[in-house]
Amino acid sequence: LVVLSDVNKHFGDLHVLRDINLSVARGEVVVVLGPSGSGKSTLCRTINRLETFESGSITIDGQPLPEEGPALARLRSDVGMVFQSFNLFAHKTILQNVTLGPMKVRKTNKAEAEARAMELLKRVGVEQQAQKYPAQLSGGQQQRVAIARSLAMNPKVMLFDEPTSALDPEMINEVLDVMAGLAKEGMTMIVVTHEMGFARRAADRVVFMADGQILEQKKPEDFFTNPESDRAKDFLSKIL
Ligand code: ATP
Ligand code: MG
Repeated sequence: LVVLSDVNKHFGDLHVLRDINLSVARGEVVVVLGPSGSGKSTLCRTINRLETFESGSITIDGQPLPEEGPALARLRSDVGMVFQSFNLFAHKTILQNVTLGPMKVRKTNKAEAEARAMELLKRVGVEQQAQKYPAQLSGGQQQRVAIARSLAMNPKVMLFDEPTSALDPEMINEVLDVMAGLAKEGMTMIVVTHEMGFARRAADRVVFMADGQILEQKKPEDFFTNPESDRAKDFLSKIL
């Protein structure tokens, strides 16, 4: 569903993505691990075309990433992204946050968009908060709303960039549980996280990055018990 072939990207002199080859099948959950600065966020942003790249190719469902215009807007709605910071619209209610995209981009009518939004808010467990504003919600609730907002666009793939790292510890699991539920239901997901428990229980594959390169790609149990590269061994020794 998502295929990156020999993708290279620089920030000035910094070669931030080096010959990235990554193929994510429909329904697959890939967890991306790696030390700070290894290029994980850049990888996500490049897949969503928030960043450009210099060489190689990226396709989503067989289509190359569009450069601009309506095709790019469509890509953005096909590729959901949830960031570390929740990025909700502060002056809109929770319900409006979720209905805005479908009404504007997908031209869904209001009643239909609201019905679907309530369904999604219920699914992530915040339907009671629909009429409130983001600031009235806990971080964990806000992040679950951000997930519902992405899902409202019926994305083909969801990208998560450290969705729980800005949360207080007691709120991390409520977000990870929603993500694990999505994974179980067959959503295609690329997840950057430091939550090794999530990687073990929800990932089909772990991708380990260092210095802009993918050094290892394997099943979580193999990666955690038998990392091959020195960088991965070093990384695991620091976090486990
Ligand atoms: P972390 O775990 O800290 O989030 P990361 O793996 O997500 O790290 P990136 O944010 O992708 O790493 O950054 C990779 C490298 O690119 C880093 O050295 C970073 O300083 C650099 N970088 C990221 N964004 C930019 C930018 N807009 N301009 C210049 N350099 C950048
Ligand atoms: Mg990052």
